[in-house]
Amino acid sequence: MKKNTVVRVHYTGTLPDTGEVFDSSEGRDPLTFLVGHGKMIPGFEEEMMGASLGERREFTLEAARAYGERDENAVMQIPRVAFDQLLASSGATLEVGMTLVAQMPHGPAPFLVVGLDEEIVTADFNHALAGKSLTFSVEIVELREATEEEIDHGHAHGPGGVEH
Ligand code: ZN
Repeated sequence: MKKNTVVRVHYTGTLPDTGEVFDSSEGRDPLTFLVGHGKMIPGFEEEMMGASLGERREFTLEAARAYGERDENAVMQIPRVAFDQLLASSGATLEVGMTLVAQMPHGPAPFLVVGLDEEIVTADFNHALAGKSLTFSVEIVELREATEEEIDHGHAHGPGGVEH
């Protein structure tokens, strides 16, 4: 595996403290990505560089090389009235612990509702895995050179990739 190859991997991600599985491709299609184009968290590619077809690697990434540290500035207070339209159209009720998606200028931004009162919703825009060390077990199940077009587009085509 090196820059500008397309790999398909089976992986299982666990939290090293508890052993809890937070994500896995088990029972699903393998994950496909173009290497070296920022498609994966940085440490994942770094740890897998040089791996060959069929190789399995296990590694633990500290938060800085995974989803980053938590940013307390990404916890925001939003007037509850801003959610009226969204809730009216979905029929949902605001609850602590629910995940909603805000439409931001740069695209959709998911957030977790961490607090609620009559006026204010406290929204946490941090990635759910921010601030956490993550352990991955990864096996390369397919490996090929990327096409010119894939490199140009910055993503993989074909099975598991972008279809267009
Ligand atoms: Zn494309």
